[in-house]
Amino acid sequence: MLSADQLLDALLERARSVAEQEAVPVGGALGRVLAAPQRSGITVPPADNSAMDGYAVRVADVAAPGVRLPVSQRIFAGTVGVPLVPGSAARIFTGAPVPPGADAVVMQEYCAAEGDTVVIHAQPHVGENVRRAGEDVRKDDVVLASGTRLGAAEMGLAASVGLATLPVFRKLKVACFFTGNELVTPGEALAPGQIYNSNRYTLAGLIAGLGCAPIDLGIVPDTLEATEAALARAAREADVVITSGGVSVGEADYVKAAVEKLGRVEMWKVAMKPGKPLVYGRVGEADFIGLPGNPVSAFVTFGLFVRPFLLKRMGAADVLYRAFSVQADFAWSRSGTRREFLRTRLQANGRLALFPNQSSGVLTSCAWADGLVDVPIGETIRAGDWVRFIPFSELFA
Ligand code: AMP
Ligand code: MG
Repeated sequence: MLSADQLLDALLERARSVAEQEAVPVGGALGRVLAAPQRSGITVPPADNSAMDGYAVRVADVAAPGVRLPVSQRIFAGTVGVPLVPGSAARIFTGAPVPPGADAVVMQEYCAAEGDTVVIHAQPHVGENVRRAGEDVRKDDVVLASGTRLGAAEMGLAASVGLATLPVFRKLKVACFFTGNELVTPGEALAPGQIYNSNRYTLAGLIAGLGCAPIDLGIVPDTLEATEAALARAAREADVVITSGGVSVGEADYVKAAVEKLGRVEMWKVAMKPGKPLVYGRVGEADFIGLPGNPVSAFVTFGLFVRPFLLKRMGAADVLYRAFSVQADFAWSRSGTRREFLRTRLQANGRLALFPNQSSGVLTSCAWADGLVDVPIGETIRAGDWVRFIPFSELFA
């Protein structure tokens, strides 16, 4: 059985980035991965400009508070003034270029306009309320590195340097199907012995949230034939195939057998809880990852293993989650023979609370929690101990 670290390393070793690229408009780039570094062709801001509504002055002209200066010009955002006449002030508004000769802006709250003059009730220092040309971006700077996942801030930054289109990797196609004779789709009535197919919604949400193109092949009954047929189709249509259920050693578990028949299994089982049964293999050109059926196990193993794998396949540079040291507000003495990932939640006191039921079937724990506590094999936790906390934002975003 592999350790969680060994499994992650082995998965990342096998994850090759898609090669194909396309150009997308900057407004349509949300969730895509940048395929080439982006340089700025301009300086941002392009000129020294005012951070405030107020009066642009020469500091030398305001030796003490209470100086009265004639107002020699008005400069609005989007316009350009003229050089400041020595001994005068320029009315100026936020974002307007600071005129040559001025070296500070006094905010209007410290000024009193009187006719064509203004009394400056403060003593400015050089550079006050002036945003320097290039303080954000200099011409030819790389503003976004290759492999960057484009979120709202990155799209805005690209737009701020005038980039209209961005080169991105093509979307990774991820097919999934869900094994289990007991599974029923919400909207249908449950017969005795049946349960709803929750993994479909959890995994589809996670896959789409990463920016992959999902291909949903639905529920597949527990037979070798049906599993093989679904797997063959999924592997033809997708870059990566993800399934849930059917990877244990039960009599109704056909996933591993199907992968062995159509391709090869390279890894099986990971020493962790929740989790354990998890298959990695290859079928034709596609990667295959079979997740456990238990809803918590599927969710947690997706965050810990599948997400980094998919991100690397998508071309992303930064794929590993970060863990933080946080104090526990609970005790955990059930140390086992497998590394455990507990569903926990950060409280207002800055410490972590534990969801009372850590069963791998209790999906309520995942909706309640906002992170996992990583408990090494054989370790126990006392209230107040510093523990390794992995926020869900690191695992599922
Ligand atoms: P398996 O890995 O197929 O042995 O399934 C383990 C447990 O997870 C069983 O209790 C299954 O009923 C449950 N399970 C399997 N697939 C799903 C699914 N798609 N949605 C919800 N529960 C599932
Ligand atoms: Mg099953």
